[in-house]
Amino acid sequence: MSNQKDIESRRRFLKVAAGTTVAVAVMGGVPRFAEAADLPPLSESDPTAKALGYVEDASKTTNPKHTAGADCANCQFYTGASTGRGPCRLFPGKSVNAKGWCISHTPKQA
Ligand code: SF4
Repeated sequence: MSNQKDIESRRRFLKVAAGTTVAVAVMGGVPRFAEAADLPPLSESDPTAKALGYVEDASKTTNPKHTAGADCANCQFYTGASTGRGPCRLFPGKSVNAKGWCISHTPKQA
């Protein structure tokens, strides 16, 4: 009889434990998504940004290396959406403007 109770209680424990594991796995994924969207914006006055001539608005750059239509959204180092802000592999931990630009711009491969 007590054996049956042990089995029941073990089953209940395993169910709870399995549920907790799933919850932790799901919760564990949430901060990663939030992190990508919440990266602090790269400042034009950041030393690396300055060195690479980064501007928030590609249409306003006077840098002779800029080619018409080139911006972060069509650069291979940019991994964000085509509008708003997103990560750039050259500026880890910061977000760049999809409309921004810097001298390291490399067109995305088609
Ligand atoms: S490397 Fe590309 S995505 Fe990164 S700041 Fe320069 S132009 Fe934008």
